[in-house]
Amino acid sequence: MALLKHTLSLLVLLVVSDCSWAEDKVRRFTMRTEDEPFVIDDIAYDNENDRNADQCTSRGCMWGKSSDGKVYVPYVIASHFSSRERSIIERGLHSFTDVSCIRFVQRTNQRDYLSIQSDSGCYSYVGRRGYAQTLSLDRQGCLYHSTVQHELLHALGFNHEQCRSDRDQHIRILWENIQSGWEYAFDKINTLNLNTPYDYNSVMQYHRYAFSGNNKPTMVPIPNANVEFGTATQMSKNDITRLNRLYKC
Ligand SMILES: [Zn+2]
Repeated sequence: MALLKHTLSLLVLLVVSDCSWAEDKVRRFTMRTEDEPFVIDDIAYDNENDRNADQCTSRGCMWGKSSDGKVYVPYVIASHFSSRERSIIERGLHSFTDVSCIRFVQRTNQRDYLSIQSDSGCYSYVGRRGYAQTLSLDRQGCLYHSTVQHELLHALGFNHEQCRSDRDQHIRILWENIQSGWEYAFDKINTLNLNTPYDYNSVMQYHRYAFSGNNKPTMVPIPNANVEFGTATQMSKNDITRLNRLYKC
């Protein structure tokens, strides 16, 4: 039955007139295996319709605020991480404390929480999904402070900087250099930008060669092509401002 459902979806999508869109969707469907979320670069989705959500506010995926003004986000860190790996993750979790009202707390019996584990790759859902939601930090390649913060910002409701609604004024996508099949990672999203400027130093900004298929850049900044971007080692001032505005800290 599951297979049939997927086949039907595929057929429906193939008749869509916009070829690039159809191909993009089909790939996502074919990438999916039972019980696993869609993984679009490092963002996981249960359902295609969630994908254009604007910072969660339209579908209630923000984490709730407590009466003390703090936003408590429960988490569980899988036991397969070593203590060194665990301390990198905890440093990332705690880094939100001094700069926002977000408090990542070890789960006791809360219904909704982040299940932080080493799956294949680094990925997270955008916003709160309800019940346990996987946030993957692969032991091979994801245990960096900036990556932990990046995935946590997804879980709090943020998309990539290069997908922002206003990105065309700040960055040009070089579609011809993108590895075939990964174009959708550069799709523009109707994001809520919270009156913050586009930020090349955002921890949510990919680097110049992200998903390159030919070792040439996939993005160039506008107007100055030489500006450095996508090399943040931690949340930028704008990342923090945005977070505080979204959650009204
Ligand atoms: Zn990401």
